[in-house]
Amino acid sequence: MSFVESLTLTFALLYAASLLYFSGQKWGGAIAFGLFSSALIATLYWPMLLAAVIAACLLGIIKRYFPNSINGELKINTLRELIHHGLAISMLLVAIQFSANTIMLKMGIEPWLMRPDVGDAFLPIAGGIELKAIITLGLWDQTHPAAAVMLTVVLLTGLLCKRAFCGWACPLGLAGEYLYKLRKRFVKRELLPPAWIDWPLRGLKYLLLLALIYIIAGMPSQAIPNYLNGNYHKIADLKMALFFITPGLITLACFAVILALAAWRRQGFCRYICPYGALLGVMSFLSPLKIRRNTQHCLIDSKGMKCDKCTRACPANIKVHQQITVRSDECQACMRCVAVCPKKASLTFSTRNGWQLSSTGLAVMLLTLLFAIPLFAYLNGFWVSQTPDGIRMYLIQHINAIGH
Ligand code: SF4
Ligand code: SF4
Repeated sequence: MSFVESLTLTFALLYAASLLYFSGQKWGGAIAFGLFSSALIATLYWPMLLAAVIAACLLGIIKRYFPNSINGELKINTLRELIHHGLAISMLLVAIQFSANTIMLKMGIEPWLMRPDVGDAFLPIAGGIELKAIITLGLWDQTHPAAAVMLTVVLLTGLLCKRAFCGWACPLGLAGEYLYKLRKRFVKRELLPPAWIDWPLRGLKYLLLLALIYIIAGMPSQAIPNYLNGNYHKIADLKMALFFITPGLITLACFAVILALAAWRRQGFCRYICPYGALLGVMSFLSPLKIRRNTQHCLIDSKGMKCDKCTRACPANIKVHQQITVRSDECQACMRCVAVCPKKASLTFSTRNGWQLSSTGLAVMLLTLLFAIPLFAYLNGFWVSQTPDGIRMYLIQHINAIGH
């Protein structure tokens, strides 16, 4: 595991445990600390132990100078933005390291920067095929194991906490927010398409998801071992990296469309194109946690007042003030609606029987899912690619000749 991954993982898990502990869940926090420390010791991997020491020192400094960011008293939007930006910075460093590793291999130089395995998260088809291999054949891929791990993580986040991954963790979602804000500086008007255009456009991401599922489901189980042992799979990540490092005209045109979409309407890329968004949207229907409006407290029903603050705060344009339960597949559990509601008991992120998850609880759940599962996978030898650099260097020299 690269140092950037180790530092992000240890910091995130220590932060989640601290949030639990200092927000009053002493036992939960102590157990989390205990489990995390045991897992760290079990790795016997000195860069991760060093990363943990650095992460603990950073948290100590944060606790000293910004105690609110650890004791669960941060405002909802501040907490979400803190986590979102932290993860985006980490992913940016991962992308730079991944690119540097790929360029060194391409130039025939023995890489002195290791490949961050979390980059395999951008191989959803490989991840899907690997999961299929595990389920149907009991076969655990050793070439890009992190792809299957990260796909599982994303699926679980959708199942448990709706599209919180999009709203709290996805770096592309955050980049889209900035593009949208930049566009709004020059063109103030909201450029929302009418519903008859919006609906079919929202269906696009589901078509893309169906295409990915078709590829994965269409591969017969007997053919999977060959695929996983083949050269194409070995360099799927390098093909992906070169696709971004040396984009062709068509790629640039696609990027331009994606950027224009993100700038045109808020969450445009997530809403219309992203197949991960579609996957999470489907999973989110199963999530027991949803935004729920309590009519006993909401100003509209309890006091007969006019209020639509929650709706106006919603980046997905969901009419929150007209719903009892927000079931929309576009809800990213960002909790902006909860943050602006003047009657605190009116809007909650809760289960049908009333169990509520605060923004701190959601942050802990999300960080634990995002990082504890990879740590567990790493401990069990299912994270680091077993393909030696020598083979990758040889294959990247012949990359254009290598097909499925
Ligand atoms: S309904 Fe609330 S939590 Fe869902 S996207 Fe809108 S503002 Fe965010
Ligand atoms: S912001 Fe709160 S009080 Fe106002 S409509 Fe929404 S849920 Fe009701």
